[in-house]
Amino acid sequence: MDRSHPSFPVFCSQGRRKMAPTHVLRCCQRGLAWIPVIFIALVVCWSYYAYVVELCLFTIPSILEKVVYLAVFHVSFIMFVWSYWKTIFTRPSTPSKEFCLPKSEKEQYEKEQRPETQQEILKRVATSLPLYTRTGAGAIRYCDRCQVIKPDRCHHCSACDMCVLKMDHHCPWVNNCVGFSNYKFFILFLTYSLVYCLFIAASVLQYFIKFWTSDLPESHAKFHVLFLFFVAAMFCISILSLFTYHLWLVGKNRSTIEAFRAPVFRNGPDKNGFSLGFSKNIAQVFGDQKLYWLLPVFTSQGDGFSFPTRLVTVDPEQPTECLQPGGLDKGAVEGSAEQTTPLSESQNHLVGNDYHIEEDHKETDILKSDESEAIIISIESES
Ligand SMILES: [Zn+2]
Ligand SMILES: [Zn+2]
Repeated sequence: MDRSHPSFPVFCSQGRRKMAPTHVLRCCQRGLAWIPVIFIALVVCWSYYAYVVELCLFTIPSILEKVVYLAVFHVSFIMFVWSYWKTIFTRPSTPSKEFCLPKSEKEQYEKEQRPETQQEILKRVATSLPLYTRTGAGAIRYCDRCQVIKPDRCHHCSACDMCVLKMDHHCPWVNNCVGFSNYKFFILFLTYSLVYCLFIAASVLQYFIKFWTSDLPESHAKFHVLFLFFVAAMFCISILSLFTYHLWLVGKNRSTIEAFRAPVFRNGPDKNGFSLGFSKNIAQVFGDQKLYWLLPVFTSQGDGFSFPTRLVTVDPEQPTECLQPGGLDKGAVEGSAEQTTPLSESQNHLVGNDYHIEEDHKETDILKSDESEAIIISIESES
C-alpha cells in the first residue's frame, strides 16, 4: 500500500512541521522536562554514597554483614538503574506510515469542510487497517496533529507531540511516554525501585534506631543514615500504590488511559475489551518466557498496532471488502485474520455482556473537536 505512495513520510512530516510551536519555547520546555529526572538521579547518587560509604564502610562493624549488604545492594541498584535507564531512553513507538492517509486522500481530506465526508474518506482508508476501536461516537480515530489514523490503543501525547502506540501515560519522572515500547521497563522500574527502597529501609533500620538512641557515637555518618531511612521509607510508600495499581492494570490488560476511559468497540465501550484472561494478559506485557520477565529487555507480545480482543465482533466491513477483487492487499487481509483468531475462545463472554456507558465514554478523542458531528453519519452507515 505504501509502495504506491512513496511520498508518505515526507507528506506526514510536512504537516507536523507546519504546526510546530516556536523552537525556543520548545527547547526550554524540553530542558525543564529533565528536572525531575535529574532530581531522581541526584537522590540515587546520594543514596549510593550514603549506603556504601557512610553506612557500610564507616558504620557497620561486622565484615560479613558489610559483604552481604553490599552484594544485595549492588544487585538491586544495578537492576533499578538499568530499568530506569531503559524506561527513559526507549523511544515511544509511533504509528507506521500505513496509518498515514495516502496523498490523494490526504488532499481530499484537507479540502473537505464537511466532517461527514471527511469521515467517509477515513473509513475508506481504514478498511485496509486492523482497526477495532472507534471514538466515543463511533468515528474513525484520527490525529489532526500527526495526520495519522490512530491504531487501536494509540493516543496523542501533547507533551511528546506525537501519537504513541498503546499509550499508558506521560511520566514526568522518566521524561518519556510510557507505552507499548517501554511499558515492561516501566513496571520493572517500579518493581526495582521498590526493592531498592525496601532493602535500604530494612537494612538501615537497626542503625537508624542506634543513632536515634545514641548507641552509636556521633559522627558525620549519622546524618546520612538518618536521612537514608527517611528518604527510602518515603519513596517506598509513594511507589507502592503506583506499583500495585499498575500490576492490577497488567492483570486486566488495561492501560491507565483505558482505565479512565473504556475503549470503544463496534458494540460500544468495553473496559475489558483487550483482556484475554490473567495469564495471557501478563504475557502480553512480559512475554511468554518467564526467564526474561525480570530483565529489562523487550519481550512484550505483538507489534503495537493491533491487539487481540476478547470481543468477537465480526467486522461487517472488512470481510465484505476482502471479497471484492482488489479491495484489500494480502497483508491487510492476513492482519485481519490474525486479529480474529484469538478471539474465538472468549466468544461466550459476549453473551450478557453489559456496557457501562458513562459520561466518560462519550468522549471524542484528544485534540479532536469535530468528531461528535461526524459520528452521526458513521452510525447511520454502520447500521
Ligand atoms: Zn498525534
Ligand atoms: Zn509523552
